[in-house]
Amino acid sequence: MRVRVFDTTLRDGEQTPGISLSPDQKLSIAKKLDALGVDAIEAGFPVISDGELKAVKMITSEGLTAEICGLCRTHKKDIDAAIDGGLNYIHTFIATSDIHLEHKLKMTREQALEKAIEAIEYGKSHGLQVEFSAEDATRTDREFLKKVFSEVAKAGADRIDIPDTVGYATPEYISQITRDSIEATHLPISLHCHNDFGLAVANALAGIRAGAQCAHVTINGIGERAGNASLEEFAMALQCLQWDQKYETGIKSQLIYETSRYVSSLVGVQVQPNKAIVGDNSFGHESGIHTHGVLSNPLTYEPISPELVGRKRWLQVGKHAGIHGMNAMLEEYGIKPSTDQSKEILDKVKILGDQGKQVSDVELLSIASEVLGDSGIKRIVHLTGFSVSTGIGTMPYAFVKLNIDGEDHIGTDYGVGPVDAALNAIQKITGKISEIRIKDYGLASISGGSTALCEVTVKVEDADRNKVSAKSVGEDIVTTSVQAVIDGINRIMLKKMLKEKLAKN
Ligand code: MN
Repeated sequence: MRVRVFDTTLRDGEQTPGISLSPDQKLSIAKKLDALGVDAIEAGFPVISDGELKAVKMITSEGLTAEICGLCRTHKKDIDAAIDGGLNYIHTFIATSDIHLEHKLKMTREQALEKAIEAIEYGKSHGLQVEFSAEDATRTDREFLKKVFSEVAKAGADRIDIPDTVGYATPEYISQITRDSIEATHLPISLHCHNDFGLAVANALAGIRAGAQCAHVTINGIGERAGNASLEEFAMALQCLQWDQKYETGIKSQLIYETSRYVSSLVGVQVQPNKAIVGDNSFGHESGIHTHGVLSNPLTYEPISPELVGRKRWLQVGKHAGIHGMNAMLEEYGIKPSTDQSKEILDKVKILGDQGKQVSDVELLSIASEVLGDSGIKRIVHLTGFSVSTGIGTMPYAFVKLNIDGEDHIGTDYGVGPVDAALNAIQKITGKISEIRIKDYGLASISGGSTALCEVTVKVEDADRNKVSAKSVGEDIVTTSVQAVIDGINRIMLKKMLKEKLAKN
């Protein structure tokens, strides 16, 4: 069965607290969603602002393959705004649960139904495709919900959506009301599930199993409160799990990870590390037993291959590590320690792990070279001088002195702020030496107050596209940032040096 994917990243997803996107940003996400292969894109809520209307116009004039939809209340002016935005497909909604009717709309059930019918007739009279949502459907009286759906179908609605507005439904109940809705309307049914109890995807799947054809989803599951059903989980569950029939979507799964990263960086919402499919850890292994299994056959501890969703597996050593995983990592650098040497390296790794430290491949390589008796490896870049000046009415300016491989280098530069100036100055020096660039910079405060500790994470990349991340913690944002960057540069130069050395051997 072909399942329709209705993406609402740009509407419900944008309603995530703290998110707001410019029209250009919305357009660029719409293009990504289109390339990913979603069937429909809910581009926004045209009536809410000029910017929103502009974004919808930009998206409708882009000539994308996906159908473009806009959200409207049952008000004529909302539908007029949608038409103005170039839409020929609207998603109109009105609440039908008693709690919404009484406390929000101050309407009777009959009045709400009348408004719904009016909106559908108005939309149809303008030649629009109309999808109707009974907001808070899952807390609506079941008989009344059937009546609403049956009446809006008679009024000409093209599609019915069942919103689990506060994520309150169980999969069993979703199945029941999906069947009710099919019986009452004979129209294509969609589910719009929220994740307040972590059941959004399970509920959307329950709806599909009960005969619905579509689910409203968002990239990374973003959306109001706990978010919506996530596109990547929904699509991959349909494609990969064992069902008694085959399900297909138009999603090009290899683009999932890239799209997830893109949306995350544009909306500024980090993906939790243990998030299914797209989280950092979802294809990472540290435990010795798991790593050993994965190395002999990935399917032992991975339900699907990471490449299927555009990702790569990664292994890490730490206190849960085993010899096999560690040796596999060393082998990538051509290092083949003897059995005794392996044990010694692993013991050292575990000591670091027990201290709560992460052991990246660079640390692993340094430990290995220590054990293998290669003492020629040390820090290559030393920070020997540093100052910044900043204030009001002056451009922030930084001076940096680095000693690289015994040679002194001086860099100075301006920036939008002191951190930027310092990083620019460093980049000026290292860019000349080995084309090292700072790719990512993240700052987080660890504790409160003006003496708070800050944590800086940076990613640096060299000309060969090797990437290394480094972290530093301190009280001074600027100095901590500089230290993190220098640390990252050291790591990446070390990695490069080791690679070259090993290539020669
Ligand atoms: Mn919603």
